[in-house]
Amino acid sequence: MEIRYKSTRSNSQPITASQAILKGLAEDGGLFVPEQIPALDKTMEELADMTYRETAYEVMKLFLTDFTEEELKTCITRAYDSKFDTEEIAPLAEAQGTYYLELFHGATIAFKDMALSILPHLMTTAAKKNHVKNEIVILTATSGDTGKAALAGFAGVEGTKIIVFYPKNGVSPIQEKQMVTQKGDNTFVVGIHGNFDDAQTGVKRIFADRELAEKLDRAGFQFSSANSINIGRLVPQVVYYVYAYAKLLKEGKVASGEKINVTVPTGNFGNILAAYFAKQMGVPIAKLICASNENKVLFDFFRTGTYDKNREFVLTSSPSMDILISSNLERLIYLIAGEDAQKNAKLMESLNGSGSYVITEEMKQALGDFYGGYSTEAETFDKIRTLYEETGYVIDTHTAVASAVYDKYKEETKDRTKTVIASTASPFKFTRSVMKAIDEKYDAMDDFALVDELSRIGNVEVPNAIEEIRTAPVIHKNECDKDKMADMVCAFLHV
Ligand SMILES: *Cc1c(COP(=O)(O)O)cnc(C)c1O
Repeated sequence: MEIRYKSTRSNSQPITASQAILKGLAEDGGLFVPEQIPALDKTMEELADMTYRETAYEVMKLFLTDFTEEELKTCITRAYDSKFDTEEIAPLAEAQGTYYLELFHGATIAFKDMALSILPHLMTTAAKKNHVKNEIVILTATSGDTGKAALAGFAGVEGTKIIVFYPKNGVSPIQEKQMVTQKGDNTFVVGIHGNFDDAQTGVKRIFADRELAEKLDRAGFQFSSANSINIGRLVPQVVYYVYAYAKLLKEGKVASGEKINVTVPTGNFGNILAAYFAKQMGVPIAKLICASNENKVLFDFFRTGTYDKNREFVLTSSPSMDILISSNLERLIYLIAGEDAQKNAKLMESLNGSGSYVITEEMKQALGDFYGGYSTEAETFDKIRTLYEETGYVIDTHTAVASAVYDKYKEETKDRTKTVIASTASPFKFTRSVMKAIDEKYDAMDDFALVDELSRIGNVEVPNAIEEIRTAPVIHKNECDKDKMADMVCAFLHV
């Protein structure tokens, strides 16, 4: 069955998966959603015996229906290879009776690698299929992890350029070092004077600028997005929830058909939306627990039905979740609005204008699968320390937000359903915060000494991604004000 993609904001003509991947964002500013979420056509028992790559094919073929089997398998093989430091790609670790789905074994040790190692291949394949002559310019706003993962994915990929904007003072030192040391002639990294939402808003504005698009077209370029709004990011993320359930089944941790809960540390709402899609496809998932840090817009939203970004932006130790506008939530809003594009567009207009919107009681009823929670900085640090002291297992700050929220959820609901926590970054990516959580005394040590100490106390090897940047020279030194982002783009492309 062919799946086409339509915009969340108007009833424009649906387009193919490859076209949606190329466009990133719909012309009306909406996000692409599949006309329907396909059901898995293999049983969990069949999937239990598959490798990650095989599972990826089984899931992605159902969404990306205009890719041939050969095209898709080639993309998958190129993406999920030895860039990952484990054959399993996304292994499960058990601690305190909960399963941590480790999504950080790729090139940049954060979960963004799961999708961004395949997106460049999906995109160049999509360009060929659609006879695109222009060079693809990937434009990305990052709260830290997307940027490096996108740079690593696209660096050196023929027919593409990549431009990354990050908040100059809003990412961890290791995140920044990872980005500014990126090699590859087709890469460009800029620190903006503003926060992540400023970067994201700036990128959206550039995408919406028709005049600029025409200027680029004349020069042989066209924009696309590697942000989590791209359907080519969302679809590969569905895979690991299917894979995780199948592995639990294979290992006898769950019985056939037994439901699990999933807890996801959430920022832009992409990862948890993928879990929701997995549930719609038939994976036995009960609750989707949406964990926020002190930027708890989503927690408030799930409680009250009001989404309100008018609040202080808090810089936390989980910077990849320091977000007040969760872009991917729009897809869920559209779905619970009964796929009513006009209704959704009105709400998004309100968000653009006043910074808030209120959903109807009926829509709120449709959110029953979700539970919103949040964790304070103190609770997050506590969780890292107590988990380490009890089990020796070290988790990063983002994963700790999820884990702390899950503890609160259990306390509040007494629900004992087996649970998978999405572990979204290696502790080595946020070494300083993690080590400080374990013991205040570590704050006196320098970043790389801390890395070695973490390796020692956690009994895990220093990941390659960290070893690499120890001595790497800084290549990108660009900075700009948030209203000068388009000028930076033009300068880089010489247009
Ligand atoms: C991006 C990111 C998140 C948030 O994921 P979303 O899909 O944006 O909700 C959480 N943790 C880490 C480490 C991330 O990089």
